[in-house]
Order: sequence, then structure tokens, then C-alpha cells
Amino acid sequence: MSNVPITIAHGDGIGPEIMRATLRVLEAAGARLAPETIEIGEAVYHRGQTAGIELSAWESLRRTKVFLKSPITTPSGGGFKSLNVTVRKTLGLYANVRPCVSYDPYVATHFPGVDTVIVRENEEDLYAGIEHRQSDEVYQCLKLVSRPGCEKIVRYAFEYARVNGRKRVTCMTKDNIMKLTDGLFHKVFDEIAKEYPGIANDHMIIDIGAARLATRPQTFDVIVTLNLYGDIISDIAAEVTGSVGLGGSANIGDQCAMFEAVHGSAPDIAGKGIANPSGLLLAAVMMLVHIGQGDVAEKIHNAWLTTLEAGVHTGDIFHEKVSELKVGTDAFADAVIERLGQRPARFTPVEYAGGTPVSVAGRISVTHPAVKTLLGVDVFLHWRGAPNVLGPQLEALNGDGLELTMISNRGVKVYPDGMPETFCTDHWRCRFQSTTASGTVTLSQVLSVLMRVGNAGLDFVKTEHLYAFDGVSGFSLGQGQ
Ligand code: NAD
Repeated sequence: MSNVPITIAHGDGIGPEIMRATLRVLEAAGARLAPETIEIGEAVYHRGQTAGIELSAWESLRRTKVFLKSPITTPSGGGFKSLNVTVRKTLGLYANVRPCVSYDPYVATHFPGVDTVIVRENEEDLYAGIEHRQSDEVYQCLKLVSRPGCEKIVRYAFEYARVNGRKRVTCMTKDNIMKLTDGLFHKVFDEIAKEYPGIANDHMIIDIGAARLATRPQTFDVIVTLNLYGDIISDIAAEVTGSVGLGGSANIGDQCAMFEAVHGSAPDIAGKGIANPSGLLLAAVMMLVHIGQGDVAEKIHNAWLTTLEAGVHTGDIFHEKVSELKVGTDAFADAVIERLGQRPARFTPVEYAGGTPVSVAGRISVTHPAVKTLLGVDVFLHWRGAPNVLGPQLEALNGDGLELTMISNRGVKVYPDGMPETFCTDHWRCRFQSTTASGTVTLSQVLSVLMRVGNAGLDFVKTEHLYAFDGVSGFSLGQGQ
């Protein structure tokens, strides 16, 4: 079988040490790889590339489509962009997969028996990075959630569960509040769950879900969630298992994938030869499964578990009660290499050899265009004053098929019939809806109400059209409306 080209980056801080150790184990285990090295991180940032990666490096990534990456140091101060976010978005890596496992009694943890995988959506949600300042007082970040985005990540979670013999997938959202965006994620989850009758499924509101994860992590199997929640709960899960230094993660796209340790470049211990290479090594195990070398992945993972059981530990997890030998980075790699072919006695051995890589490529449903009807417009104003002054001023602009139905401030209805207690900022959503018999309006009617608002000297800073899709409302009501 020919060697699979992969792109590797040695990174900053402890990056080169743990990459060297990882590559030695991969080679000793017989991984069929042809690595190409690219440079990323501090040196590239300081050469003036604000993304931390040279244009030429993209050619390697596009060619190999598989990236094993050591951590890098992101220079502090303005102007530097997160390399991870850039790579993720540029290569369309929509799924972030983070196994969180407790290795008791060999690694200290308050929560024995945890074996959870967090599948986090990686491209959408508030991380689309679309932010605007809209008034003196108000800043906005757009939360974007798409049906194909939800389908891809939810199907990935179920496929991951199927391929890895997992029993349950839990969806976490906040759809009691965000009924359209998080509501779509939950709806897609319910739809796709039906296609996997052999896998149990449930849904939790993210706040209680995160709390349970912090207090009863051993009760979860696979968790799938949106980007921001996933970011937060994957750190909670890593922390409760006590294994931040041991965690690997995968970023998966339809065409490319990136594998890395969960931890950073640890500049405080760089160059000392004491870093634990396990996070990157377990990321490399995920990479091997992804490229169809489950046999090698299994050999390495079981040898690594056997090494932990033998009490051969790096300083970060060394504990007199359970550890036998304190070793540095290279000696730890040697200990894993010595145990290649062995299976752990106390931990459950992993099995990847017969498994197929997880893929959802080509399985996203086509979204059919809905019949879209325009029902009105939300006009956002930068304005200072009281709602009972603004309301009549806007009502004077009613006409030509549109009338003011509501003003809200930070989502709470303040006109008509607002409560005097509601705190108001200088950012107002003024909802104009159709007065026509059909209930619809045209774009030119919307434009003419905007003209009337502008001509009245009111500073409109943004508009949102109010649509129905196949007769179903595509906008939320104001709180109290
Ligand atoms: P860190 O994860 O690098 O270090 C936190 C603590 O954990 C330190 O005490 C460190 O010594 C220890 N540690 C981390 N990995 C270890 C290992 N393998 N073995 C033993 N001990 C280990 O987090 P930080 O200090 O907040 O960040 C340092 C730099 O890393 C920053 O520049 C940050 O931006 C960057 N970072 C990069 C990535 C990435 O490239 N994916 C991720 C997180 C942080």
C-alpha cells in the first residue's frame, strides 16, 4: 500500500518536541505516511503574515488534505488572526471532534469512568464573525445557522456514533429562547435521529446540559452542539476528566481535515524535554483512523494505554501513588514504542481495525426554494429618547400599505403599551407590517417607508425584511408582543 501524503507543522514552544516524539511512534508503528512539512506560527506572524501561515503552505494543505498540527503561539496584541480559525474556515472544517476520557486511576480525576465525545459545529453560529457597532451604545454580532450546516454536523455525530459503536447522541441547544436558529438545529437533530433507530437520542437545554456535564460527565456518550456552546462545554469536559494535556482533537471537513492537541504551545516548559506528547499522539491516532489506517491507530492507542497503566508518566500527570517512572518527552515515546503490539489489561482496549472512517460527504439534502412572501420590515434606529415620543413620530409615517405595529428595545416590546420599568438603550427596532388585504407588501413599499423614515430625520442603521416561507413566519415576535 502506498504512503499517504500528509502535511505536518512543528509549531512553537513545545510543538517541535511533541511532534518529533509523535512522528517516531508513528514510524515505529508502521504508519504508511509521506509527511510534507510547512511552517506556521510565531516566525510567520513576525514576517508580517497576519494569518500565521504562508501562501505556499496552502498548496501543501490543498494537495494532501490532511494536516497534523502542533500547537502554535499566537502573538498577543492587535492585528494577528487566529490561525486555527483561518485554517478551519478556509478548508471548510465543519466538525470539531473532541474525545474526553478519564484515565483513572492512573491520571487523577474527580470523575472516573468518563468517555464522552463532543462534536462541535465549527463554522457557523456567532463565530461567523459578523459584528457591527450600530449606535453609541449597542454592538451586534450576527448568529448564522444554516440547514446544510446543521445537517452536516448532526449527521456527522450520528455517523461517528454508528462507526464507533456509541449508544447515544445528546443534542444541546438553547431553542427555548432562540427558536429560529437553535430551533433549526434541534429540528434537524430530530429529523436525522429517526434515521438511526439503533442509537438513542435526547435533547437538553445547554445550560442544564453544561451543568450536568460538569457534575455527572460519565452519563454522556456523544454530544452534538452549536459552535459557541461546543467551545465552552468541550473545555468543561476536558477539565473534569483532568486530561487537558492528554486530549487530541480533529477538525473535519468534506475534503480536508486537521488534527491537533487540545493544549497550547506551553512556552513555560518549552525546550526542557518534559512535555507530554500524548495530546498530539492521540490526535495522530484520530488522523490514522480518518485516512483508513485503523490497524495502525489501534496498535498505537493500545500501546499508549498500556504505557499509562505501566505507570510510565510525564511530569504533568505524575503522581507518587500510581506512577512508577517519571519520564521526559522522548522517553515516553520510547515507552509507547516498546509496547506496540500490547493491549491494556485494565483499560478497555480500543478497536479501530475493522472500522470505516466517518464521512457524511454527499449526504446533505437539497434545500428546495420556499414560496417567500414579504410581510413587512424591521427598521432599526439609532435614536435617543422615550418610546412614547418615538411611537407617534413613526405612526405619522404610516401609509402606502405599511403601519407601525411595535417598537422594541433590546428585543423587549416598549411601544405600544410598554412598561415604564424597561431599560432602553439608543437602539430601537421599529416593526412596520402590511395593512393590505393580502397581508403582503412589495419591496418598493418597503423602500418608500424607509425614505419616509430617513426624510423625517430618523437615523436608520439597519433593516431586516419580515418574510414568511411557505406560509410559516420567518421572524421572531418581540418579547411581550
Ligand atoms: P497551554 O495549553 O499552552 O498551557 C497551559 C498549561 O498547561 C501550562 O502550564 C503548560 O505548561 C501546561 N501544558 C500544556 N501542554 C502540556 C503538555 N503537552 N505537557 C505538559 N504540560 C503541558 O495554554 P496557554 O499557556 O494558555 O497558551 C500558550 C500559548 O499557546 C498561547 O500563545 C496560546 O495562544 C497558544 N495556544 C495555541 C493553541 C493551538 O495552537 N491549538 C491552543 C491553545 C493555546
